[in-house]
Amino acid sequence: MRIIDHVISGGAKGLTGSGRSHRIWNPSTGEVQAEVALGDAALLDHAVQIAKKVQPGWAATNPQRRARVMFAYKQLIEENMQELAELLASEHGKVVDDAKGDVQRGLEVIEYACGIPQVLKGEYTQGAGPGIDVYSMRQPIGIGAGITPFNFPAMIPMWMFGMAIAAGNAFILKPSERDPSVPVRLAELFLEAGAPEGLLQVVHGDKEMVDAILDHPDIAGVSFVGSSDIAHYVSKRGAAAGKRVQAMGGAKNHGVVMPDADLDMVVNDLAGAAFGSAGERCMALPVVVPVGEDTADRLREKLIPAINALRIGVSNDPEAHYGPVVTPEHKARIEGWIDTAEKEGAEVVIDGRGFSLQGHEKGFFVGPTLLDRVTTDMESYREEIFGPVLQIVRAKDFEEALRLPSEHQYGNGVAIFTRNGHAAREFAHRVNVGMVGINVPIPVPVAYHSFGGWKRSGFGDIDQYGTEGLRFWTKTKKVTQRWPDGGGDGSNAFVIPTMG
Ligand code: NAD
Repeated sequence: MRIIDHVISGGAKGLTGSGRSHRIWNPSTGEVQAEVALGDAALLDHAVQIAKKVQPGWAATNPQRRARVMFAYKQLIEENMQELAELLASEHGKVVDDAKGDVQRGLEVIEYACGIPQVLKGEYTQGAGPGIDVYSMRQPIGIGAGITPFNFPAMIPMWMFGMAIAAGNAFILKPSERDPSVPVRLAELFLEAGAPEGLLQVVHGDKEMVDAILDHPDIAGVSFVGSSDIAHYVSKRGAAAGKRVQAMGGAKNHGVVMPDADLDMVVNDLAGAAFGSAGERCMALPVVVPVGEDTADRLREKLIPAINALRIGVSNDPEAHYGPVVTPEHKARIEGWIDTAEKEGAEVVIDGRGFSLQGHEKGFFVGPTLLDRVTTDMESYREEIFGPVLQIVRAKDFEEALRLPSEHQYGNGVAIFTRNGHAAREFAHRVNVGMVGINVPIPVPVAYHSFGGWKRSGFGDIDQYGTEGLRFWTKTKKVTQRWPDGGGDGSNAFVIPTMG
């Protein structure tokens, strides 16, 4: 059995980790394809000691040279795109084209990080007082750590270490134990790009390793992305240990469809946004809110054939719209949510339970599911399903449609579909959600803006990547300076103030 190991400079000499391992599935075939070694606190400390040695030299390397490593890395990722995407798809289950998107969106943050000499420039005020100037500079926090989820094993690590390392930090990544091979490759490629050994290390693990990261006194900042309960836990424990923490959580994104929307466009967008990547995206659109019964009926009529036309296939099937979900447990969980929805009174219009792909009967496939007449009191509405399930919640008017995402426990993304600029503007300004799309179903901001949800979708107040990411991975030093001439009659000489 292939063993996926940690990426620690010089190896983890004599350290065995927790002695435990986690199995890596091939979700398309339902077979175990590898094991990943799980680390423990001693292994983490070993990596931290290495990071402590390498970080000061990297921080002292001028930003232009750091940017050159980022440029070389960008090129290497492009050259290895196909290999990375296939590896990713084989562990995650998303189709190869989607996997390329996963790598590409991370790569865009690396591209932004190539501009580090420009974005790291500080502020300067000349003559803030007589002969006094004030300036500020951004200095790295030291050692940063990232704890990432299974659903974007390339993009989310790059969101974090791209910004952290360009800013002068060393970084320790703890990727999801469900699909860790691409993060390992990303670290290997970074070395090939010319990064010093030990600057980017990967430690594998589960809760034991996460706790070790949160408690380690030499790790200054932790970025987490995953489900909300764990995000909340990470945020509290990390903050209690005196760290800077940002922790992104789960989601239940709504798409509001106004009566004047272009329904063909909406249906096409929903097919991708609700079912793409088997719904395992934090910016998926699993809830559609048509405004008015007539809009709801017209939308439902168009949705049914579009959903029935979706092709489910193995992750390397180039014709497939989406592949299997990540594990057998996750498949059972999604089907359990459809059972719950049915018991709660939702109408199961298209039922994806018990789906089996011919020739791949052991794969973890879930058929596309459409639920209508879902209401806000249902647990299946309030909680995240994270599968290929689209729920229709009918709203009687704009105000009710605005209230639904605003009052939901999650506040990651939301979209409105309309031809009416006034309605779109009202919605964008008033909705209580962090990222808004106007006729855009998956409003993930580009790399030079920042990413972050509200409410239980994001704990901590600094977003990922862009200028916010830079703020997270740096601390500002403020310098107030005066340079007396020190000569002449002494009236301008620097005098140490005394008491009395
Ligand atoms: P998860 O919460 O199970 O795991 C995330 C990380 O936490 C992993 O590295 C895992 O090893 C670690 N972990 C698991 N159990 C832990 C525990 N008890 N204590 C400490 N650490 C633990 O999430 P997942 O299933 O890998 O990913 C899917 C979730 O992530 C969904 O809820 C999705 O919405 C969310 N997500 C959010 C965003 C965002 O930006 N808001 C982006 C992607 C995914």
